Amino acid sequence: ETGYNIQDVRADFPILAREVHGKPLVYLDNGATTQKPLCVLDAMRDEYLNVNANVHRGVHYLSVQATELHEQARETVRRFINARSVSEIVFTRGTTEGLNLVASTFGDEFLKPGDEVIVSTMEHHSNIVPWQLQAHKRGIKLRVIPMTDGGVLDLEAYKGLFNEKTRMVSVMHVSNVLGTVNPVKQMIAIAHEHDVPVMVDGAQSTPHFAIDVQDLDCDFFVFSGHKMYGPTGIGVLYGKESWLEKLPPYQGGGEMIEHVSFEKTTFERPPLKFEAGTPDYVATHGLAKAIEYMEHLGLDNIERHERELTRYALSQLRDIPGMHIYGHAADLLSDGQANDMQGDAVISFNVGDIHHMDMGTLLDQLGIAVRTGHHCAQPLMDRLGVLGTVRASFALYNTREEVDVLVAGIRRVSQMF
Ligand code: PMP
Repeated sequence: ETGYNIQDVRADFPILAREVHGKPLVYLDNGATTQKPLCVLDAMRDEYLNVNANVHRGVHYLSVQATELHEQARETVRRFINARSVSEIVFTRGTTEGLNLVASTFGDEFLKPGDEVIVSTMEHHSNIVPWQLQAHKRGIKLRVIPMTDGGVLDLEAYKGLFNEKTRMVSVMHVSNVLGTVNPVKQMIAIAHEHDVPVMVDGAQSTPHFAIDVQDLDCDFFVFSGHKMYGPTGIGVLYGKESWLEKLPPYQGGGEMIEHVSFEKTTFERPPLKFEAGTPDYVATHGLAKAIEYMEHLGLDNIERHERELTRYALSQLRDIPGMHIYGHAADLLSDGQANDMQGDAVISFNVGDIHHMDMGTLLDQLGIAVRTGHHCAQPLMDRLGVLGTVRASFALYNTREEVDVLVAGIRRVSQMF
């Protein structure tokens, strides 16, 4: 049914064939980071072996070639999220850096005491703490969009949060805990009615379905390479050109300047204005290869495969005695039919009163890698009334058989308590 052969795909990720604790690895911690296909690893090794030179400044052959690869990667990213121009694509170290860059520079330019920024209950700490730093520095206030018991943002309450002090909305696209796909397009339209810009944390959406920043009409969009089959340490900040022109630089240094004297320095235009220092040009090349890999399989095929897997996992998990799944309420319509538009490749749960860490540790003994804890979303844990959850998160290479191993593993662990 899927548009690609899952066994062929798995062969692209040699790590999936290894054993842990003498058991075949079942890797279900993709929300934390994904494994890397050979084409990404080979491309990066090849670049270090045959091309390596610092980018942008060199007149020599290797530097020109390395610069070409680096700037081609920017174009690949532009195409991947359908930005208008490569000048809207800033390379960062990851989602966290992108969120901090915008909070900090937007704060420098636009935030005054009493101003308000809207975030949601389900945010990752990386979209809370940078704004809190702004709150300490500049006396701004955070307003929080509440969430229903089913793990869905309350849009009516969201509308009610706007006032003449609102300066920015910063929300996640897909929850790394609940898998909820937030209706960001609608939320952006609402914010724009109030002339408020919106930043979207796309860390958990870019791995799973196609993104079109022009269609969303977001003002900023950030994501990480390592969660979508690319290398660690590289990420992207998309910003509408008009916004990137208005924001001041984040860090100063080489690459981001036009002319420097001790009296006055002029800056490059975006994106270089925000890229001080030598970029990780090998990682940008690796990220481009990861994008090409996903495009080769087909974003629609990846999405369909993962949604089917998630649906299958939910149906199997729900039968386990004592199972409590967080969110995914909208997955079942009143007639018990699955609703395809809710719940992405992430499932958080607890079983009876088994501690999430015990569950995770015992599943690990069976070769199953899941994440446990608060998932960098403690305010969300408070809202759910738990200290932590067990989280299984799927990628394009996971199989029904692996879900079966997970379900059998949970049943086995449950019987031990
Ligand atoms: N936002 C969300 C929704 C995430 O899931 C993560 C990673 N867990 C981040 C932000 C932070 O990403 P990174 O650590 O790659 O900067």
